[in-house]
Amino acid sequence: MGQTPIIWWVRKDLRLADNPVLTEVAASGRPVIAVFILDEVFDAYGAAPRWRLGLGAEEFSKILGRLGSRLIFRRGEALSVLQALVAETGADTVRWGRAYDPDQVVRDKAVKAGLTDAGVDAASVAGSLLFEPWTAETKTGGFYRVYTPFWKTLRDRPVAAPDAAPTGLAAPQSWPASDDPARWDLGAPMRRGAGIVAPHLHVGEDAARARLDAFIDHKVAGYATARDHVAEDGTSGLSENLAWGEIGPRTCWHAGWAAMQAGAPGAEVFLKELVWREFAYHLVWHTPHITTGNWKPDWDAFVWNTDTTPEVTAWKQGRTGMEFVDAAMREMYVTGRMHNRARMIVASYLTKHLMSHWKIGLDWFADCLVDWDPASNAMGWQWSAGSGPDATPYFRVFNPETQAEKFDPGAVYRRRWIAEGQGTPPQTALDYFDAVPRHWGLSPNSAYPKPIVGAAEGRARALDAYANRAF
Ligand code: FAD
Repeated sequence: MGQTPIIWWVRKDLRLADNPVLTEVAASGRPVIAVFILDEVFDAYGAAPRWRLGLGAEEFSKILGRLGSRLIFRRGEALSVLQALVAETGADTVRWGRAYDPDQVVRDKAVKAGLTDAGVDAASVAGSLLFEPWTAETKTGGFYRVYTPFWKTLRDRPVAAPDAAPTGLAAPQSWPASDDPARWDLGAPMRRGAGIVAPHLHVGEDAARARLDAFIDHKVAGYATARDHVAEDGTSGLSENLAWGEIGPRTCWHAGWAAMQAGAPGAEVFLKELVWREFAYHLVWHTPHITTGNWKPDWDAFVWNTDTTPEVTAWKQGRTGMEFVDAAMREMYVTGRMHNRARMIVASYLTKHLMSHWKIGLDWFADCLVDWDPASNAMGWQWSAGSGPDATPYFRVFNPETQAEKFDPGAVYRRRWIAEGQGTPPQTALDYFDAVPRHWGLSPNSAYPKPIVGAAEGRARALDAYANRAF
């Protein structure tokens, strides 16, 4: 008789190194059956994240092969799939990497209860964050609502060294059946955009590690200033990999920490950014409504536009006539990502200049970003809108024109993404027309639109609405 197998429910932790749940199941010495489930939560993801998650899982199945193991693919409601797998394999233990966002928390609680009731040893293992969200407390015992004191509390807290990748995983006597994930056709909702975005992706643990190494070797020293210059490749790009767990946060933290010890000037700023990600999860854990409703409840009285007006459509299409905004939206359609400064500009423009609800933008990003993260996206949108955790209040309205002068002084970024009006536009700008839906009816030969709302006019209108708010 062989040993009783353990099921490892693989989710957004598609890596071998720095993966505590894998460390635990490998250390048991028992046969491990790794299963990826396209369940009710993942199946509801927007077009780009759902596609990207599938690509990551397929790549991870190859990586698991290096350990002499396999990734089993199943589709269906998570609890039912796991119960069926327990029955098929005789496993008595299920482990998974802990999640903190509301949709996964609700699902995981139900799964844990269902499996435990059936006599299965079911538990999550922490690994996707540096610090558990409930371990950072203010002096009065509450959670943090502002980033800076959160950072000050955590910056000197020791972070455990990342676990090494196991060298092998015991296989079960026979493998359970697996779906073929290619047949799920997860890229279908991306339509022709998939072909345009694909060359920009860095899928999998090896690509993530290479990205981190390149960042530490070549970029971290200048990161403090380069990170704001939208035309430069001055940031790590790791959000795509952190989102799907293709690299662990401890690995990133220790690489940044070592660079800081070695005197790299931008390294501490990089560590601070990693802690922004932690802050997003701190907030989503303590205030899960951040993903669905105004974080500051008095904002419920603010009259947001919730309709898809022609202005909102122009924003989505990158046709507002405001070059910085349009360049950023087009960058997202072509690469699946958008520079952080640009995210702040387009979010401010939608919520302030167009006075449209941040949820419209949040949902749109959740459909288009390959680095979509429920916590960072919600925090970013509410921070930009004024309804969220920001020490600077609503009257900070980014002016896309002055922001462009400051952070894209040579208009390199804008020319990279906007074809109209250029005699010989670069391929990046032309790719946008092949990435977006045909029914938008756009062509590089169309005239570039006049601003739908002027920078000064939009600011004045937003501030007026704010001054006359009902709270
Ligand atoms: P780097 O500058 O190299 O930073 C390193 C890492 O730190 C990032 O990979 C990321 O994990 C973390 N980080 C950096 N900035 C932030 C931040 N402001 N908030 C949280 N974590 C941060 N990030 C996502 O990962 N997914 C999202 O869906 C997302 N949506 C956003 C929406 C809006 C409106 C805004 C303003 C920001 C959003 N961000 C989101 C945060 C940020 O824009 C991205 O994390 C960043 O652009 C990623 O690029 P990078 O990996 O090169 O970052």
